[in-house]
Amino acid sequence: MRVIDGHVHWFDLNEYGETWYKGWPSKSDKELRKSFFPLDYYNSSNGSVDGAVHVQVAHEFDENLWVGKQNDEREKIGAMVCWIDLTQERALEELKTVVNQITLGSERKLVSFRHVAEAESNPDWLSNPNVIQNVKNIGVLGYNFDLLIRTRNLASASILVQNAPETQFVIDHMAKPDVSGDIWNEEEKWKLGIEKLSHSKNVWCKLSGFYADDATRSFKPDQNRVNYFVSKCVGLFGKEKVFWGSDWPVSLGLNQTDVNENIKIYKKSILASGIEEDYLDNIFYQNAVSFYRLSSD
Ligand SMILES: [Zn+2]
Repeated sequence: MRVIDGHVHWFDLNEYGETWYKGWPSKSDKELRKSFFPLDYYNSSNGSVDGAVHVQVAHEFDENLWVGKQNDEREKIGAMVCWIDLTQERALEELKTVVNQITLGSERKLVSFRHVAEAESNPDWLSNPNVIQNVKNIGVLGYNFDLLIRTRNLASASILVQNAPETQFVIDHMAKPDVSGDIWNEEEKWKLGIEKLSHSKNVWCKLSGFYADDATRSFKPDQNRVNYFVSKCVGLFGKEKVFWGSDWPVSLGLNQTDVNENIKIYKKSILASGIEEDYLDNIFYQNAVSFYRLSSD
């Protein structure tokens, strides 16, 4: 089976200070408060991955330039999801200039943008008028947008998606339903919100990562709960609009699952959702190539 990892993070603590994002991971987090490089990733995935899409970590422009230089000789296809300040009012021409600063001299293909919207104190941050305008223009320039959201952000994500019909969106980590095995109070709200988003034809869904309601809690994913949510998402978005990502090294630190264990859990749940074995190449490779417009030759 060919594999594109649709969601990895690399990070250099020396380059970006002590935290990834506003004090996270905490100082006591021995698993995640480290540097993670492509070398570590490709050593740990041990030949099972053909390429990876790096997803932004910090809200820092310079990170884009650092990521553009990161690759590994074992990687056949490399891409990146970058970060820019979306709250700033910008004309299309200005946005083009910013994008050129990122792509010039980069060895990874810029494919999408993302903001850690779930961590904003305002749950409706995504429907801010400047954010909407910038995300619209991102689509006009031929780039996509990754939605990092939880249940409380589903309504504003829906407004954004409806106002930017030319932009292709992907929901990271299925909008983080609780797969810890506990009773989850937000389940009905999650279902309604994600169903609404699935009605827009420019929205895809990434089957990636394992989260509990409490973002900091370390736990092993419950296979039945992963099956349940994967099956829901495959049913809503269709098998052509879902693809896999590991969320390494967060899934390694938070869920003690290395890349191969991660593939195993998701493969089980994808097959349990009714997808036939022959189609796994699409979910683990081809659909990510299509969504992010990766060059696979
Ligand atoms: Zn992630």
